[in-house]
Amino acid sequence: MVEIDGSELPARKAEFLKIVYQMGGVAHTNDLAATLGVSPSTATKAAAALTSAGYLEHTPYRGFTLTKSGEEYARFLVRRHRIVSLALSRFGLSSEEACLEASKIESCVSRELVDRICASLGHPMMSGCGPIEHDHSCFPEEL
Ligand SMILES: [Zn+2]
Ligand SMILES: [Zn+2]
Repeated sequence: MVEIDGSELPARKAEFLKIVYQMGGVAHTNDLAATLGVSPSTATKAAAALTSAGYLEHTPYRGFTLTKSGEEYARFLVRRHRIVSLALSRFGLSSEEACLEASKIESCVSRELVDRICASLGHPMMSGCGPIEHDHSCFPEEL
């Protein structure tokens, strides 16, 4: 499997994928449109683009389901958000401020940088936005 580097998806499509993940990995475009505050046709287009990129699968009646690489990518997105948010909170921002500021800049943060920040913070387990996962690329070998 190709390693994620964080630049595969533009911010809006990444957000879309993250929402499918947070909805339990399966979602109808109407629900996605409502959650994102976009029109159903915008949601349908985004879902179609993510499907042709291999992150989603369309199942009749069920809607769109995350593929294995879609789930892996969504987990990376959640992890990236939480690491960036935690790093910002170390500069004195409240968890709400850190969450908001992280949402604005996280799409520019590469996988490599996420791993480096994670390591420099000592592989924290928790951020103001929820628990932080570590994968093989950042977790110390000796543990
Ligand atoms: Zn957050
Ligand atoms: Zn880590």
